[in-house]
Amino acid sequence: MRRTKIVATIGPASDAPEVLDALIAAGMDVARLNSSHSGLEQLAERFVAVREAAERAGRHVAVMLDLAGPKLRLGEVGEGAELVDGSVFSIVPGACVGDSAQACVDHDSLAEALGPGDRLLIDDGAVELSVTEVAHGAVHTRVEVGGPISSRKGINVPGVALDIESVTARDREVLGWGLEAGVDLVAQSFVRSATDVRRLRDLMGDRPVPIVAKIEKAEAITAIDAIIEAADVVMVARGDLGVETSAEEVPVLQRRIIEACRGNGVPVIVATQMLESMTSAPRPTRAEASDVANAIFDLVDAVMLSAETAVGSFPVRSVETMARIALHAERSDLAVRGSIRSAGGPADVTAAVSAAVCELAADLDLDAVVTATQSGATTRAVARHRPPAAIVAATPDPAVARRLQVVWGVRPLVVPLADDTDLMLDSVLEAVRDGGLAAPGRKVAVTAGIASRVPGATDFVLVRDVPA
Ligand code: PEP
Repeated sequence: MRRTKIVATIGPASDAPEVLDALIAAGMDVARLNSSHSGLEQLAERFVAVREAAERAGRHVAVMLDLAGPKLRLGEVGEGAELVDGSVFSIVPGACVGDSAQACVDHDSLAEALGPGDRLLIDDGAVELSVTEVAHGAVHTRVEVGGPISSRKGINVPGVALDIESVTARDREVLGWGLEAGVDLVAQSFVRSATDVRRLRDLMGDRPVPIVAKIEKAEAITAIDAIIEAADVVMVARGDLGVETSAEEVPVLQRRIIEACRGNGVPVIVATQMLESMTSAPRPTRAEASDVANAIFDLVDAVMLSAETAVGSFPVRSVETMARIALHAERSDLAVRGSIRSAGGPADVTAAVSAAVCELAADLDLDAVVTATQSGATTRAVARHRPPAAIVAATPDPAVARRLQVVWGVRPLVVPLADDTDLMLDSVLEAVRDGGLAAPGRKVAVTAGIASRVPGATDFVLVRDVPA
């Protein structure tokens, strides 16, 4: 049974019902809806399609809504244009149809933040410009690396702090829709500080859902500890991170971010270009297979597919391939070594009980650790210790079941949790048996926050036989 979770981005290549069915069968745990490339109507259609496919499959599939965030984008460029090395290219204020000499951007005060020598990178760095002069609101540049440009391509300005709201007006509109629809996770792009995360949480009001902080700015690296504390999940968004810093910094930052998340018990996703060649080829490169496996050896919770499933020619094969690589890596002794009790963290009751449960699981060769959880916190506390047994999240709330799909090793099970502990244990163990999560007669550990009744305060553990 695979433990690493798979996030797959839904797009034109994957939004047909039969493809969604196949993606779920192949192992998609979380469906990502990217608001950068879709309008509200399309997001709503995809949301419903994922929910319907999950229903058909009888699986808990989370929907993660990815907010575009404060990303600069080119305005209209008609049919597209080709920038030539060494030529002059200007970014001018207002609205215009761009060409190979000039274009507009969707941010009014870009000129105020830039000066000669600053670099502008278009389309993930495919085209590079250096600023030669800023005059009357226009930014004049020299094309250092030429190439094609087209409408709405992203622009990165590494090392320059732009005065843009962390949650844009469009993000607020998309968020309003997402909360109303009932998305399970919201990913926040271009997070710069913990304040950005808190601002998003404030905007969610009385309908909060877990926030996935996307780490893709150099400023976020500086503030990483505070961001991890403020967020519920972290994503190493290597596409923009590699442009905002540099390609050679990405592997080092990836490992450091994963370590910091593990230390704090915060689930972490590694994203972007994991199986990029499968966008157009039926098999991954060996380097890509190693990339997925190495993320797993680094103890990531989830790995993500972007273009591969959104616009690629082999969306289902990409998920199947990722699942196979994950399973093989997990079955090797490399993935297990040093995992248990390696998370560290504060020596509180929850941490100690959850670590002890995982030791019990190893010592007694248990089939499963069953976490009875209202909020998901007990399950996350156990999962961070990477027990060898299955981690069952028994929760009465389907939304909590879906949210936990981003967490390593968790198998959600929706079941009522009675107030009476004995009744609760009986019904949970029956559900574990009926769900095929542990065989009758086998031993499992059940853990919960019972004495304190505080969500996440795990203080109870019991070893029981699964009823016949
Ligand atoms: C990334 O930049 O790696 C990322 C995941 O974000 P997006 O796909 O929204 O650019």
